[in-house]
Amino acid sequence: MIQIKSQREIEIMARGGEILAATVKLLEESVRPGMTTMDLDKIADDFIRSHPGATPAFKGLYNFPASICTSINQEIVHGIPSKKRAIEEGDIISIDIGVKLEGYYTDSATTVAVGRIDDESKKLLDVTKQALAAGIEAATPENHLGDIGAAVQQVVEAAGFSVVRDLVGHGIGVGFHEDPQVPNYGKPKRGVRLQPGLTIAIEPMVNVGGPGTRTMPDRWTVVSVDGTRSAHFEHTIAITEKEPRVLTALPG
Ligand code: MG
Ligand code: MG
Repeated sequence: MIQIKSQREIEIMARGGEILAATVKLLEESVRPGMTTMDLDKIADDFIRSHPGATPAFKGLYNFPASICTSINQEIVHGIPSKKRAIEEGDIISIDIGVKLEGYYTDSATTVAVGRIDDESKKLLDVTKQALAAGIEAATPENHLGDIGAAVQQVVEAAGFSVVRDLVGHGIGVGFHEDPQVPNYGKPKRGVRLQPGLTIAIEPMVNVGGPGTRTMPDRWTVVSVDGTRSAHFEHTIAITEKEPRVLTALPG
């Protein structure tokens, strides 16, 4: 069932989202070759908890053991931070984070270059970011869910990359994963009509090669079947009467 949020609820989510946006920025600035993924987890956990009432949403969610997901290179999503996993020059690392504040969740992800990266990886990051922007732009009340997916898919496929289909965006609010599902592919004017007060996480996951995925033996980390690199960008947004409002952006 789709939960339409009141203005009061959206304002709470915007406050949580601002903490989340600052956390994402801090991590983007912190990434260095030689750090471990657990170092990043600690930075995020400490920073989120330094804001009264805010907690890292992922810790314990579906029994996930850490406060962020860190997914390197061919890993798409849900990588588990580890003291044994160091990031290296030339890697790309996707960092997915959630914040819970006053009973409401927000969700965001970014993919960061570790030092200098190759041109194809640069293009992958640019295209995935552009695909997210196109999806957000399509999130208006005259549109349907399919318009978001179609906008994302168009950008990704025009660049010669693949949209991951096994994982999708989602409604978000009191629940971390609420209805509706928000696929990164689709047809315009299909699916649920978007209405003001709907809050969703739009999160293109884009592979350089084919769209296929596989889950590793740790039962969390999802990788591309063909071993090609993957990027992930995500924002939580609210549909309004006019432009969509990005709840996980820094002010200005
Ligand atoms: Mg996320
Ligand atoms: Mg999400």
